[in-house]
Amino acid sequence: MVASVPTRAAVGQRGITYGVFWRETEEVFYGPSLSGEHAADVCIIGGGYTGLWTAHYLKKAEPGLRIVVLESDYAGSGASGHGDGFMTPTIGHNLTSLLEAYGSDRAKLAYTVVGKSILEVQRFAAKHGIDAQIEPTGYLNVATNARQLRMLERDLGLIDRLGADSLPELLDARGIRARVDSPALLGGFEVGGAMVNPHRLVRGLSRVVRTQGVEIFERSPATSVAKRPAGFRVHTPLGAVSAGRVVYATNAYQHQFPELRAMVRPMWSYAIVTEPLTPTQLASLQWPGREGFVEARNLIAFARLTAQNRLLVGGGPVPYHYGRDMADTHLRARRPRRYLTGLLGKYFPTLRDLRVTHAYGGCIDMTPDLVPHVGRLRNGALYAHGYCGNGVAFTNTVGKVMRDLVLDRETTYTDLMFVGPQHRVYPAEPLAWLKARMHDLEMRVQDCWPALP
Ligand SMILES: Cc1cc2nc3c(=O)[nH]c(=O)nc-3n(C[C@H](O)[C@H](O)[C@H](O)COP(=O)(O)OP(=O)(O)OC[C@H]3O[C@@H](n4cnc5c(N)ncnc54)[C@H](O)[C@@H]3O)c2cc1C
Repeated sequence: MVASVPTRAAVGQRGITYGVFWRETEEVFYGPSLSGEHAADVCIIGGGYTGLWTAHYLKKAEPGLRIVVLESDYAGSGASGHGDGFMTPTIGHNLTSLLEAYGSDRAKLAYTVVGKSILEVQRFAAKHGIDAQIEPTGYLNVATNARQLRMLERDLGLIDRLGADSLPELLDARGIRARVDSPALLGGFEVGGAMVNPHRLVRGLSRVVRTQGVEIFERSPATSVAKRPAGFRVHTPLGAVSAGRVVYATNAYQHQFPELRAMVRPMWSYAIVTEPLTPTQLASLQWPGREGFVEARNLIAFARLTAQNRLLVGGGPVPYHYGRDMADTHLRARRPRRYLTGLLGKYFPTLRDLRVTHAYGGCIDMTPDLVPHVGRLRNGALYAHGYCGNGVAFTNTVGKVMRDLVLDRETTYTDLMFVGPQHRVYPAEPLAWLKARMHDLEMRVQDCWPALP
């Protein structure tokens, strides 16, 4: 008998469901768990976009490879199924951090490659009949105050520095309100991308990868990874995999492995979802292109429509909990829900009384330099992390990078700027927590300060 995965949602005050909204858009059944001894060429730890795209591209390149994916819960149960569904070309936290870390020439190439991934994900979904509710709308970078307007101007300058073929037009308040009639918006410009149902996308991807012959074991957490002369031995509670290559694809959970602990910090990101809008309510928003929009600030805030015309509003503070605590109790935090309900009223005052049906959160994986890293540990195991909350398109690119690293190929992908050793790491507790608090404060102050840093 195949077990259905419980939604793990709890109904709180005002009938709000504290649980990931997207989980309710399809039923999930557990796949087999790992027991006993297994041998593989490649063992991938983590069944989210990173692990699954890696498995997909590896199998496409070398169909004979034996690939095992170990997933502690079910494939897509992590950030990949928790996201807000903005598929954007963003790499790491923002363009400024990226340019600071790598310079404009290398950044341009990476943006081109990730831009291709946006198209490729859409083609992949269409080819394999994955109904991920993809709307190729692009999204709007918007300003709600004078400081943010200056940030938009600065971002356009950075895009220009990247040598973009054409610069997006900076729309004034009238122009942006013709795209979405929110009185909070003072300006904005459009960026390419799409809105997706992230859970359906990752579940569809997992189905395709299985049909390619990749073995995905669910409810099978890797508990330790040991180096052996001929490769690695990865243990789970009921079995073990001996594999020539190991890929750590556990994103914000990477810290559980001592060898990766200092590299990544999990930070909580939250969203709320409303009841579906009536046709009259939807028409009142005058949002013909249905693009999601994102406020230009450090602690980004954003809104979008789902396929069922619910409003999803997310972002704001991204707390870090002492000791890299990712307990499910934080998923049900009330303070972010209150903050985001206020934001809903700011964006759409006429709909401020709309019923919020879902509130949820999940962890994004931050690195000290706010940019992603794909690298190799001294023992040869590979890792990828640091997407800083922008992983839907980027992980597709990472899948190709990982393919080439696993196969020891030197290609355009392995030459991308974020491939190589990660030099900056986080300190141990309590310093890690203190630094996170200070960084959070700095971000908030900057967001209120009229001058740009
Ligand atoms: C609330 C939220 C909103 C987001 N919104 C967006 C967005 O709108 N746009 C965007 O581009 N990005 C967004 N992101 C980021 C994006 O979802 C991630 O960057 C992306 O999903 C990362 O994919 P992944 O496969 O690396 O990680 P994950 O999907 O987290 O996969 C890692 C997997 O590893 C598993 N795992 C953990 N430990 C073990 C172990 N010991 N053994 C085996 N398996 C293990 C986990 O269960 C998990 O399934 C959001 C993230 C969050 C949390």
